[in-house]
Amino acid sequence: MDLGLSGKRVLVAASSRGLGAAAALEFAREGAKVAICARNADRLQATAESIRAETGSEVFPVVADLTVPDDIERLTSSVIERFGGLDILVTNAGGPPSGTFDETPQEAWDAAVQLTLMSAVRLIRAALPALRKSDSAAILTVTSVSVKQPIRALLLSNSIRMAVIGLTKTLAEELGPEGIRVNSILPGWTRTERVEELLAANVKRYGTTREEEIAKRTQTIPLRRMASPEEFAKVAVFLCSPAASYVTGAMIPVDGGAIKATL
Ligand code: NAD
Repeated sequence: MDLGLSGKRVLVAASSRGLGAAAALEFAREGAKVAICARNADRLQATAESIRAETGSEVFPVVADLTVPDDIERLTSSVIERFGGLDILVTNAGGPPSGTFDETPQEAWDAAVQLTLMSAVRLIRAALPALRKSDSAAILTVTSVSVKQPIRALLLSNSIRMAVIGLTKTLAEELGPEGIRVNSILPGWTRTERVEELLAANVKRYGTTREEEIAKRTQTIPLRRMASPEEFAKVAVFLCSPAASYVTGAMIPVDGGAIKATL
């Protein structure tokens, strides 16, 4: 199937590694021009070079901190200028810190709202004028299975990602008449560097093996394993592509069946 992404102009936020980098690579494999961003210039440059080397597609790296409003303005305007417009926006960011209610100070709530919710709001606000000029505009928010099924000791993710879902569904309603599609992916356990770091920390803490730590998390998942970042990315790229032209307002889990709710 031709996804129709050749020459499309894409911005994937938070993309020097992990889910964002995997999505950027997959867009580039489909012939799209891709802008990526992160705070660390060296890592971002290395990711851009590796995507270019593998795909030959144009990759535009911009150093930006998604918790800084001016950085988001500069990021979006430089991408729109460089590509002469924008067709696809993926709002992604680093995850908020873990913790229970008692362990979470007020400042952590404020910071997580900026990182998880307001970065998406600001990216969409800044990108919308350009997306409105595209004939195949799509926005994808990256949330988590935690919006369907709260995860223990992930209070901030469980709470604030719900607001991103409210934003996604509302925008699907408001922007649908203009032909702009807005969807969300709810990733389950995916073997990114962040998850590998978490597994390694637990191996050290509990004296277990990496395999035992993975088994703890996957024994109730129907597919009995974590996803690869590429498995997330292929769904992300399809949802944003013209091939999914009648899909909007959808909350798509990429979780190996982890969410057990019937609706
Ligand atoms: P990751 O830590 O591997 O990658 C995060 C990326 O975001 C990196 O490129 C990092 O440089 C960038 N980043 C972080 N904070 C930033 C900031 N303030 N400004 C700009 N860039 C920033 O994480 P990941 O596993 O790829 O997860 C991505 C998102 O998906 C996170 O919000 C995470 O909580 C969520 N998620 C991940 C999983 C999973 O299993 N991996 C599951 C559900 C949800």
